[in-house]
Amino acid sequence: MTHIKTIMDSPHLQTRRHFIQNTVLLTSSMAMTKLGNVFAQATNADRNVRIRNMEVHTVAVTNRTNWILVRLTGSNGITGIGEASLGRRAELGELNQFYRMVEGESAFAIQQYRRRGWQQASAGDRVLATAFSAIEQALWDLMARSLGVPFYNLLGGQLHSDLPVYANINRATTNRGPEGFAENAERAVADGFRAIKAAPFDGFPALDSPAEEIQAARELGIECVYAMRERVGDDIAIKIDAHSFFDTDLSIDVAAELEAANLSWYEEPVAPTQTENTKTIHDAISQVLAGGEFLFGTEGFRPLCEQQAVDIIMPDVKHCGGMWEAVKISALAESYDIKVSPHNPSGPVSTAASVALCAALPNFDILEYQWGEQLWRSSLTEPNEAFQNGSIAVSDRPGYGIALNERILEAHRI
Ligand SMILES: [Mg+2]
Repeated sequence: MTHIKTIMDSPHLQTRRHFIQNTVLLTSSMAMTKLGNVFAQATNADRNVRIRNMEVHTVAVTNRTNWILVRLTGSNGITGIGEASLGRRAELGELNQFYRMVEGESAFAIQQYRRRGWQQASAGDRVLATAFSAIEQALWDLMARSLGVPFYNLLGGQLHSDLPVYANINRATTNRGPEGFAENAERAVADGFRAIKAAPFDGFPALDSPAEEIQAARELGIECVYAMRERVGDDIAIKIDAHSFFDTDLSIDVAAELEAANLSWYEEPVAPTQTENTKTIHDAISQVLAGGEFLFGTEGFRPLCEQQAVDIIMPDVKHCGGMWEAVKISALAESYDIKVSPHNPSGPVSTAASVALCAALPNFDILEYQWGEQLWRSSLTEPNEAFQNGSIAVSDRPGYGIALNERILEAHRI
């Protein structure tokens, strides 16, 4: 010990120790300065963004469709947009209710908003779920735009640069017979879409109706499917949504009759909350089974996933609890080898948000697009919504990559 003490106390080592200490101090202060610069660069974005304002715009589309668009403005002047469309205007009051939970709060405190609003949003009322989700969507856009990054970068970055899209031709098809469906299927294909969806069983009679009435509706729907297949040929994917009009037996029988139409999927022949029936149908038919468009939260999707009752789940960012919940639902599905195809018979805002989400989803399948409602649709956003060869490009602009075109908005808002 003495020997060591002597060495440590030697004048030479004292000098050396001071030199090392000073060098360490100097180096660490230089490092801190450098680190300071690095963090200064990384924090150029204003972190203290508060929510200052909400505007809600109702856009008249058709007699069946309104788009309800929500725009939040932050204290930095940057805006974020979301969509709350349910096809009616009932959600306007609820939007105010959820807005009060974020007004004056940080635009970056999305998880806190989710925690504050979750109980009301998850109570089972679709209007509340939609209003909650729209504000959540707008917060993410505002946050990502404040940081200057695309939304998908907040999820770990982009996996896909182009997303396949299918044209939902159902609402635009006013002639509900085989010719009407075949004609619009052909027009959607002429627009470049390689996949289409229709719901030719809409208006199906209640299941306790006279047998001949049910038989006639069943035959008409099946005829419409084959008319589309014949018109567009074998290379186009056709998806059929049965809008939960059937029971288990009828679902299985109709699926068997549709086998030769080679469907790319069969959607919700019974309500997706009927997990056991859905599982029975899934195991009995040859088609891919899809569903879940109005389910809420991971808890809503868990039964279908756990039972592997569907092959594809369809969360809707407008109704499922928002962007973060859609990520969680997709991750849940992935753990059961189930793919995700977001439900999106919606306006261009929900579409842009869905695109920014899907860009980062490993189990993404295809995105829905509401086809043929209005020609001015694409010009409601800047840049315009653009599809090529049945795909939509993922934007590299901040947030969801779009802004509303004020002139088009003014022309069509009510
Ligand atoms: Mg559906």
